[in-house]
Parts: sequence; C-alpha cells; structure tokens
Amino acid sequence: MSNQNLFTALRAAFPADLDSVAIETADTPAPLFYTWRDIDRGTAMLANLIDSLGLPPASRIAVQTEKSVEALMLYLAVLRAGHVFLPLNTAYQAAEIGYFISNAEPAVVVCSGQNFGWVSKTAFLAGTAHVFTLNDDRSGTLLDRAAFHIDRHTPATRSADDLAAILYTSGTTGRSKGAMLTHANLLSNAQVLVDHWGWTEAAAAGKQDVLIHALPIFHVHGLFVASHCALLAGARMLWFSRFDARAAVQRLPEATVFMGVPTLYVRLLAEAGFTREACRNMRLFVSGSAPLLIETFNDFRSRTGHTILERYGMSETVMLTSNPYRPQSARRGGTVGLPLPGVQLRVRDDKGRPLAHGEGQQPGDIGGIEVKGPNVFKGYWRMPEKTADEFTTDLWFKTGDVGRVDADGFVTIVGRSKDLIITGGYNVYPAEIEGFINELPGVAESAVVGVPHPDFGEAVVAAVVPKPGAAPDAAAITALLKAQIAAFKVPKRVFVVNELPRNTMGKVQKNLLRELHKGLFAA
Ligand code: AMP
Repeated sequence: MSNQNLFTALRAAFPADLDSVAIETADTPAPLFYTWRDIDRGTAMLANLIDSLGLPPASRIAVQTEKSVEALMLYLAVLRAGHVFLPLNTAYQAAEIGYFISNAEPAVVVCSGQNFGWVSKTAFLAGTAHVFTLNDDRSGTLLDRAAFHIDRHTPATRSADDLAAILYTSGTTGRSKGAMLTHANLLSNAQVLVDHWGWTEAAAAGKQDVLIHALPIFHVHGLFVASHCALLAGARMLWFSRFDARAAVQRLPEATVFMGVPTLYVRLLAEAGFTREACRNMRLFVSGSAPLLIETFNDFRSRTGHTILERYGMSETVMLTSNPYRPQSARRGGTVGLPLPGVQLRVRDDKGRPLAHGEGQQPGDIGGIEVKGPNVFKGYWRMPEKTADEFTTDLWFKTGDVGRVDADGFVTIVGRSKDLIITGGYNVYPAEIEGFINELPGVAESAVVGVPHPDFGEAVVAAVVPKPGAAPDAAAITALLKAQIAAFKVPKRVFVVNELPRNTMGKVQKNLLRELHKGLFAA
C-alpha cells in the first residue's frame, strides 16, 4: 500500500525547480528567502531530530511558539516523522497550557525561549521527556539540535486514517476539546480547495500564485487552509509573522491571493492606500472563521472591484462550504456559499426533523447544521462520550452551528446553538437581531447575548459599537428596533461600547459578554 502520509503528498507537489523561492518573509529585519529545497532539507533535519528521540509512533508534539517559517517547517517535520502535531495558541497562559499538556500528554513540547521556565516545569511534571525552544529569530535549542542531523529523510509510512494533528477548539464555551484530524481529512480538504479556488487552474495557465500569509499558524485557517493550498499548488508565500494592514497593502501588488478573518478586511479598508490599483494582480480574497458583515462585503466590492469569497469551516471538519469561485458575481454576501465537493450538509430542527432544501420542508427554516464527508474528524481526543454526543446515530457530525439553506443551496450561519437565546419561551437568534442593529445609523457592529432573567428565563442584551465619530444613543436604538421587530426580540438593555471582546481569530467572545452582564436582572 502506498504511503498516505500528508507530507508525502505535499512533497510530491513541490515544483520541479527546487531552487525557486517558496516563502519570502515580509516582516523580518531583512527579507529571508526559503527555496523549496530549503523546505525539503529543513524539514528532513527536523524530522531526523524527532526520529533520534525514539518516540513511540503517533506521539503528540505540542508547539507554542511565535509564527515563523521554522515553526511551519516544524509542523511539516512532525508529519514527515509520522507523529501528531498539536499547535497551541500563543495567547494561552500557564493554566491553559497546563490543561493541554495534561490532557494530550505530548512526548515533546516546543516553546519560545522566554516561556521555557514555566512551560518546561509544567511539561516535565506531566511526564513530557523533551522540551525544546524555538524563537522567531531562528534561535533556540530545536534548530541547534537539528543542525547536527542530515538533510535527507524518508517520510514515515502512515495510513489515511492515522492522526496527523490535534487541534484544540477555541473553547468560547466550555472546556477546550482536542479535535483529532487524520492525514486523509487534511489532504482531501486541501485537494478540494486547491481545485475549487482556482489554484490548479492558475498553475496550469503558467501563472505563479503568490499568497499573502498573514494568519496565525496555530489555527485551521492559517495552518491548514492557507499553508496547504500554497504548498500543494507550488505557489509562493509572502510570510507575515503578524498582520499589519499598511505593510500588507504595500505588498499587495505582488500578490494574487489573500486569506483573512473579517477583522483583517475591516483593517484593510481603513487604509487609504487600499485601492483598486493596489489589488491589480489579485485573483482571490477569502474570508472566514467568523461572520463577515454585509457592510464590509459591500464596501470591499466598491473599493476594490473584488468580491470577497466567504467560506465556512471549523477545527473539527476543516472547510465545509464556500461561495462560488467563478463568477465573482455569484458570491452572495451574508452567506457562506454551498457545500464543497464531497461534503454533505443538512439542517435539522431541534427534534431532528430535516429542514434542508429538497428534504420535504420549506427552504429557509433555521435549524442545526450537520455534516458528513472525508474531511470530518475522527473524534475528540480521549473524550469518547463527548464524541458520541456530537454525532447522530447515522453518523452526521453536529457542528453546533445554527443556520439555514436557501432554495439554491446557499448556507447562511445564524449563530452557535449555544448562543441561541430563549426568552419567555421564544427563540431569538442573535445574528438576526445583530443584523437589524448593524443597519441603524451610527452603528458599526454589535453583539447580542442572553443573560439570566427572573421572569423570562433569559433576556436579550446588546453591546453596540459606534461608527467612528458617531454617538448612537441606547434609548434611540431600542426605539428604532421596536418599530421593526417583535417586542420579545428587542434587547431589554443596550450598551454602547468601544469594542467587542474578540479572540485572536476575530471571533466575538460571547461568553465574556454573558459573564459581564449575568447579574443585570438579578431578582
Ligand atoms: P474554529 O474551530 O475555531 O475554526 O471555529 C469554528 C466556528 O467558527 C464555526 O463552527 C462557526 O461557528 C464559526 N465560523 C467559521 N467560519 C464562519 C463564517 N464564514 N461565518 C460565520 N461563522 C463562521
């Protein structure tokens, strides 16, 4: 049987000219150029170092470092050596790292030099035998040790169903769970995206794609979607260790593809230099990880002439849906598009009755989104009960997202099921109310949550961010909403705030808002 290791497939896609540039750094003191040969040799040396540790097969290798090309190579080396990559958000502090390490029991931990003291203590106490350091200036014990190893390495043989990575869910509700992704999950999804988003077509036409890679690589978006597409397509990456809108705009004329979370698009639009001219060579802007406001979608189109392609996915499934690649005019703002090839998606009400189009009910009804496909993960690490709860008896994965499918099959996400508000027995979908609030004069964006209420069970509360220079009034917002929507949906309290609490992927942390306002209606 052939080797199903994801690394083998990525390596096979390297261009014939191994001395051409694969990655150029955009924000190191001087630009660094990594050829495809450098990636091959560097990952071989790191994989040989990992092999030299004599780890049992499928050992977890946990990594919490700043973003660097070497950190990406470490990911590839872990695949190459046949172990399981476990990326950790750089924002996590001691208590969180302690939980991940005790839960995942990694054989190796790689951290930044400045965190070595406390990370190594936690790791050694949990039984981890090896802790290395890797800094964003290429210093640290990992590369020092790898330098002693040879630069050729035969990838470990893995089967399609073997684990490649564990991604801890961002945990905006409850304890973070480790989503186990296999080599086949990741490879099948990457191949679909490369075809679906025009990378194959661009390469076949002899056009060199250049991706601005400005997302973190501890998350599905930057690590899998962005990196896999570029690697599998043999495209070049312009590598930003962190997103800087001005610097990104300066490099845009060299680029053809950009991937971002909605906040990055808002920040690009705030740059005067972000013009049609700056985007002249671009063929694709992709947005995901959090909902893109229709206003951003529209402003972007009028400013640049490009239509953002919004897609939807999650750690457990990689990518699920995408707006059409061609024609751009078929992309629908406010929707996350159609299921990707190979992905099955259905919507069911809370009694498990199907609501999706073609299954006997009216299109447009709101319910829980369930999916099936080669991209759907194997389960949560060491949580068999939780895994069983999240799959239906006929093996569809319950995403926890609430949405609807229209008559043409386009999917709209209305929110997380855990964010659904039940007030006086009525269901309120936060995204619907946020949509109305965002249309009001002077409002930039909003977040709606439910908080405990002695009479209604839950009460609707809104946090509203004004547009620059505007000062919308809470009472006026309430009055305007009353004229438009049913009284039970109108927030009982509206707070005007400077910004919404967001995590590094731009997701609004509704749990923090609920916590902040939980005593508002205390009896
Ligand atoms: P994560 O596992 O951190 O990638 O988070 C996945 C969750 O992000 C999904 O379950 C959705 O709730 C949300 N999400 C991802 N993409 C979108 C999108 N385009 N629109 C709305 N929500 C999204």
